[in-house]
Amino acid sequence: MTQGACLCGAVRYEVDGPFSMTIHCHCSMCRKHHGSAFATFASAPLMGFRWLGGADHIVRYRSSAQGERAFCKVCGSVAPTLIKAMDIAICPAGNLLGDVDLPAARHVFVGSKAPWYEITDSLPQYEEYPPEFGALGVARPEVETRPGVVAGSCLCGQVAYEITGSAMRLCHCHCSRCRRGRSAAHATNAVYKLEDFRFTRGEAQVSEYKVPQAQFFAVAFCNHCGGKVPRRSPERGFVVVPAGSLDTDPAAVVPAVHIFVGSKANWFEITDDLEQQE
Ligand SMILES: [Zn+2]
Ligand SMILES: [Zn+2]
Ligand SMILES: [Zn+2]
Repeated sequence: MTQGACLCGAVRYEVDGPFSMTIHCHCSMCRKHHGSAFATFASAPLMGFRWLGGADHIVRYRSSAQGERAFCKVCGSVAPTLIKAMDIAICPAGNLLGDVDLPAARHVFVGSKAPWYEITDSLPQYEEYPPEFGALGVARPEVETRPGVVAGSCLCGQVAYEITGSAMRLCHCHCSRCRRGRSAAHATNAVYKLEDFRFTRGEAQVSEYKVPQAQFFAVAFCNHCGGKVPRRSPERGFVVVPAGSLDTDPAAVVPAVHIFVGSKANWFEITDDLEQQE
């Protein structure tokens, strides 16, 4: 029995496996919803899925004609999607607690992967869905950006931001808070100077959640779509930008370092040559 929880702990569930499939999805919608380089989903038989609490905290956003994305209204963590027709529960793996026995993953939608993220493992890769899914991707509008400016937006597009100047650093963070907050294998955050950042629209619909026990750790998301957006940290003078929300590929943003690798998910292997810090 595996348990799952959102970052704030309100949305909780248990899954009586076995998990039948794991996918790392690099599509632009997953990147924006999670704010990460890619999302990881594990599916299990619907029969073994049970809500333990917080189902009333879940907000659903219709991201396409076929699809809905669910998230916790308090902390923005992605919630499982239950598909009755296929008899499966699709769980964001970053929210599964403890060590979890997941089947080997496949990369899907690598055709729309983030330009700043390189896949270095030897897992199978698919341009879109694997053929046996019998499904097609959804065309997404190009987001317009201004030359010379770093820009990003949430999944629904109602929140957008611009940054002048270049990133101070870029971290793949494997800590348990980042994994739960991004509902992903790890967060990828770009850090910029606070004065270089501004929201260009939708700031009023940005929700923030700070982990009560943490000194600084907090997340920000669009309360309409659940897409992760930058969080300003005035006390530290910088802004933490979830790299999955970026619409531009600024040359200065290159993956720099893995941090908190000591708390990495047991089901994710680091295969690149980047520096790793405990
Ligand atoms: Zn929550
Ligand atoms: Zn996806
Ligand atoms: Zn949004």
